Amino acid sequence: MRFLVTGGAGYIGSHTVLALQAAGHDVVILDNLTTGHAYLVPDGVPFYQGDVGDSSLLEKIFHDYPIDGVLHFAAKSLVGESMQDPGKYFLANTSQSAVLLSAMAKHKIPYFVLSSTAAVYGEPQDVPIPESHPIRPTNPYGLSKHLIEQMLPWFEKVHRMKWMALRYFNVAGADPQGRSGESHDPETHLIPNILKVAQGHRDFVSVFGNDYPTEDGTCIRDYIHVSDLADAHVLAIEALFSGKPSGVCNLGNGQGFSVLSVIESARRVTGHPIPVRIEPRRPGDPAVLVASNAKAVAELGWKPKFTDLSTIVETAWLWQHR
Ligand code: UDP
Repeated sequence: MRFLVTGGAGYIGSHTVLALQAAGHDVVILDNLTTGHAYLVPDGVPFYQGDVGDSSLLEKIFHDYPIDGVLHFAAKSLVGESMQDPGKYFLANTSQSAVLLSAMAKHKIPYFVLSSTAAVYGEPQDVPIPESHPIRPTNPYGLSKHLIEQMLPWFEKVHRMKWMALRYFNVAGADPQGRSGESHDPETHLIPNILKVAQGHRDFVSVFGNDYPTEDGTCIRDYIHVSDLADAHVLAIEALFSGKPSGVCNLGNGQGFSVLSVIESARRVTGHPIPVRIEPRRPGDPAVLVASNAKAVAELGWKPKFTDLSTIVETAWLWQHR
């Protein structure tokens, strides 16, 4: 089959392109390169530079290639930025997705996989968090994604479009073969920031709060390896094709790791002492976010391969060296 991957030159999209190719599918990439990188587009893959909300560009792509389904990663994803400029998030994420879905409906493209987020749940009331957890996003980023999720049943009802919304927890690590990895500017995520210290680009890593009600006082997150996440996308779109029902699905490791335990793991992997500085809590950070991944395992047949923290950190370290 041939799939359009929006945001295919970005961190998660580029790993999914590799996974789709490994599964024997053809890929077309649409990316505006604001946070993606042209060097992450594999040789020979058709690439269009532009926005998902550009309906004439979508017309051209759907005219140039027969597309069986769309995996939609292109988005803004910084919680802090969304708190400063909510409109930017509703326009870039929600409105542009409506343009994409409308173009898909016009061209009768039947399958859609959305890059969604655990941020739709807000402050957790049960951990591990199941898909049935109440939806109470505490920032515009989470709401901008949930609004897309809410559109999808209408496209299914009216246009018979089958869909899956995959809610990610903390995506980390890099392709074990070193073909892709995480490169953001500014970088806000924990693991790449720790590794910058090990590389000598920073003197210390900030730990945002050590007074949380957890064993070592630092926040606990569910770090899922990006290649496992990519494999789940391939399974999701193939499941839709084979007749599985539309729906939402968490993607997480199912295990939590504290900020200090991630730093400890990075010390072992890099051999660097990685000094820390304890700083105030970051606004909006819940103490614990861990997924229930039972649905992905049972219904998609997903088997994450890189579940231990040291493998996640090692692959990120390999990439950061490149
Ligand atoms: N964090 C930290 N120092 C950093 C970056 C993140 O202590 O330089 C903490 C952050 O407060 C959270 C966890 O690490 O508890 C994961 O944060 P990240 O930004 O990687 O992902 P998020 O959970 O916000 O999606």
